[in-house]
Amino acid sequence: MTSKGERFSPGATIPNSGIYSAVHSGHPKDDHEVTCIRGKKFPECRDCGAKVEFVLMRKARHVRHHELFSGEALPATT
Ligand SMILES: [Zn+2]
Repeated sequence: MTSKGERFSPGATIPNSGIYSAVHSGHPKDDHEVTCIRGKKFPECRDCGAKVEFVLMRKARHVRHHELFSGEALPATT
């Protein structure tokens, strides 16, 4: 189970769709929010490569992963 505040590195599989804060440590850049989709992999930063971490801020299920909008039955996860 993923808990809020857990950090993920580039290459890791995205566990939950939602809003993540991207924290760059390889160059000056304010943290900023991005949307990530479950099942894909967190990408490397174009500037600092793997020196970026993603912190889950808010889960938000992808519309096509929701049972009411998907044509197939999926596990009831975000
Ligand atoms: Zn970066």
